[in-house]
Amino acid sequence: MVSDCLFCHLVQGKIESKAVYEDDEIFAFEDINPQAPVHILIIPKKHIPGLTRLGEEDKELIGKIHLVAQRIAGEHSLSRGGFRIVINSGPDAGETVKHLHFHLLGGRKLGWPPG
Ligand code: 5GP
Ligand code: ZN
Repeated sequence: MVSDCLFCHLVQGKIESKAVYEDDEIFAFEDINPQAPVHILIIPKKHIPGLTRLGEEDKELIGKIHLVAQRIAGEHSLSRGGFRIVINSGPDAGETVKHLHFHLLGGRKLGWPPG
């Protein structure tokens, strides 16, 4: 828990969010500014500042996050049509919140390459 981190506050329930999944290590919630019909953020409850700050000890957690993504995609009927998992890392990628988060996007045709 980092006191000035928005997503730590969301995990703690100090800021409201629409949760779609939670276990002891992982939290997932609807993005406040959705870029697709389904836009869910999946985060570790532990404060990891970003992809560049991952450690060896986080390997299993990152694997679990992908299993959660698979499950949420299935629950939103995206397994067939497809979906995308995105991590924005650094200013060129448009990262705005410094708590590692995986965007799960789907429900429409997603353009490639991203702009
Ligand atoms: P980034 O740009 O860092 O990859 O993604 C941050 C994401 O967090 C954005 O898609 C933004 O819409 C979302 N976001 C920012 N503030 C809030 C909030 O207070 N609640 C929720 N649910 N999402 C937020
Ligand atoms: Zn945090």
